Amino acid sequence: MDSGRPMGFNTPEIANQCFYMVAQYLRHWHTNRFCIPLKCLKKTLPNLKKTHPWYAEIYSQVLQDVVKRVKVSFDRFIKGDSNGKRSGRPRFKQRSRYRTFLYPQAKEGCLNGNLINLPMFGKVKLILHRPIPDGFKVKTVSITKKADGYYATLSLQDETVPTIKPDFNKASFGKNHSPQKCRSELITGIDVGLKEFLTTAQNEVVAIPRYYRKAQKRLRVIQKRVSRRKKGSNRRLKAVKSLGKQHKKVADKRKDFHYKTANNLLKKYDVIAHEDLNVKGLARTNKAKSIHDAGWSNFLSILQTKAENAGLLTVAVSAYNTSQNCSACGVKVPKELSERWHSCACGCELDRDHNAAINIKNRAEGHPVLKAKSLLGDSRIVLEARAVCS
Ligand SMILES: [Zn+2]
Repeated sequence: MDSGRPMGFNTPEIANQCFYMVAQYLRHWHTNRFCIPLKCLKKTLPNLKKTHPWYAEIYSQVLQDVVKRVKVSFDRFIKGDSNGKRSGRPRFKQRSRYRTFLYPQAKEGCLNGNLINLPMFGKVKLILHRPIPDGFKVKTVSITKKADGYYATLSLQDETVPTIKPDFNKASFGKNHSPQKCRSELITGIDVGLKEFLTTAQNEVVAIPRYYRKAQKRLRVIQKRVSRRKKGSNRRLKAVKSLGKQHKKVADKRKDFHYKTANNLLKKYDVIAHEDLNVKGLARTNKAKSIHDAGWSNFLSILQTKAENAGLLTVAVSAYNTSQNCSACGVKVPKELSERWHSCACGCELDRDHNAAINIKNRAEGHPVLKAKSLLGDSRIVLEARAVCS
């Protein structure tokens, strides 16, 4: 979004609203031990506008969304989320931490060229990073303040996205005489490495790009600058600002790299197996991986959404001993973290990460979901063959 134009996006008012709601909610919870229903909370809004006239300047739906957010955080605190995991007691947000607000229902045609029409703000110029594809409807607009300006995130809806690509076995059947071989070529496993970003079961290596490492180095330099400068000083404030910008740069670069890598993988493979990040404890003994974890889980979620949208599949498999077991004979070959080579008595000689990637791929092929899918694919092939014969 164009940061040059001074906009009335004064989130403090909304933050205040949030403060007020949390306070009200907490008081109610402590005295009565039950939650105020969302409806009742929303009903307080019109009254609030009378007593605090400046709230009238905030679009009503934005305020309602604030109420909803407060409600969600309380539900998470009291009842837990869909997995039953409870989060901590809702806290007051510092003004500077309140960075996003949401228009839950974007009007049709709110986007016109490079202008977006936001209720209460009017037409605001923005830089579109990519054109909105035909047939998509803008559903929600959220405005976020970041280190280098304001960003608008549009969520789009398209009904034409397929659920699961129905014919990924059939397609491979036509290309090659041996369907078994071909299918196994459309499946890959990926493993995170110590030095490389990932290695596939086909021994393709994706390195962490140099520009990303460089940006990270610069981040450390600025971080040091901040900690050297006196707290509360202007010079420190300046350094903090540039640190924010650098963080943003690193995050952008990483995201870009993740998208490109995911696209390249999905262009080549229909099914991509990776280790299950949810299995913690026993399987998570590899230190290098826990270092990579943050970026890795981001990448996996991008890969998953991209795959789903294209009707392709990602499979999470247990990571237990994937780097230790031999991918050819299955015998455990213990090795230290520093050992980069897998060498087995059966004659299997491989790079450590390559070996792990093959193990991950093999586990995916024995995965119940995939087995069901391949059965489905086979029956379809049989049916087709019959149709040709008769
Ligand atoms: Zn072996």
